[in-house]
Amino acid sequence: MSIPVNDLIERYPIIKKMMKLEPVFWQNQGVLPPHFPINGVDIDIIKDAAERFDRFKPFLMTAFHEYKQTNGEVESPLIKIPNMKKAIEKNFATSIKGNLYLKSDDMLPVAGSIKARGGFHEVFSIAEKIAHKHHLLKSKEDDYSYLLQPSCREVFSQYSIGVGSTGNLGLSIGMMSSKLGFNVTVHMSVEAKRWKKELLRQNGVEVIEYESDYSEAIKNGREQCSKNKNCYFIDDENSVELFAGYAVAALRLKEQLEKEQITVDVNHPLFVYLPCGVGGGPGGVTFGLKAVFKGAVHCFFAEPTHSPAMLMGLVTKKHR
Ligand SMILES: *Cc1c(COP(=O)(O)O)cnc(C)c1O
Repeated sequence: MSIPVNDLIERYPIIKKMMKLEPVFWQNQGVLPPHFPINGVDIDIIKDAAERFDRFKPFLMTAFHEYKQTNGEVESPLIKIPNMKKAIEKNFATSIKGNLYLKSDDMLPVAGSIKARGGFHEVFSIAEKIAHKHHLLKSKEDDYSYLLQPSCREVFSQYSIGVGSTGNLGLSIGMMSSKLGFNVTVHMSVEAKRWKKELLRQNGVEVIEYESDYSEAIKNGREQCSKNKNCYFIDDENSVELFAGYAVAALRLKEQLEKEQITVDVNHPLFVYLPCGVGGGPGGVTFGLKAVFKGAVHCFFAEPTHSPAMLMGLVTKKHR
């Protein structure tokens, strides 16, 4: 049921500013200590996803020279950025307690964004299912680099993966799916960066571009995929597999903080600022962080003023 916009503004005055594209800050007064499962999703998904990443390490090391160097680890550095801290303090005439770090997911090999976590994980999960169905793998202890054998590619080539993307999700899913031998189609809006489209095409990915908006790309992709029973459509708004992959970031961040001897507890809280699009990425990371650090972590989503969908969902409690 839709609510007249004037009623919404009356109930939630911040919406007026949002409509004028003014930057706003909103703090959720209703935040409770995390209580799992949340909407039926329990913390087991994090451990499962982390173990899946571990199983695919030998595959990654063999498939990509970039991952040979990281021993198959899909991880990004945590970088101290004191100059950024100074610049923010100066710009906003404020002082920031504690240290400022950048979790540099742009440096994640092959995908170059947070989408490496979610996208790779979902493709791995699909590949694993198919591999077991076709008896390519006998157990979870198998050496997964075997999946690069021509006989395995032959099996994967009978399956399709589709995804709608403004850029990075398509890059992550396209690169990994094509490496395994899947038929992969990325439905992209025209704004997506040209080099991303070209890189995908060079890797045998079919890229379909849409003049109209992004939701059109998704709709079309989903429809096309639904006609083929061997097609998996990856949905960045509703996929638990993507979400689980993102959540693994929290386990690794915990290790990195420990290595730097940074204490995180209620007296030493961790504040995390997450760039947000549709919310699956930052949502997954937040889910993981809350599972790991409980009440000691505070997460803030940063959205463009032109697409405050997450804020709208939280403010109105519609959650969509
Ligand atoms: C996708 C993406 C995000 C946000 O993720 P959503 O799941 O769309 O909210 C943030 N930063 C970068 C670089 C991304 O690619």
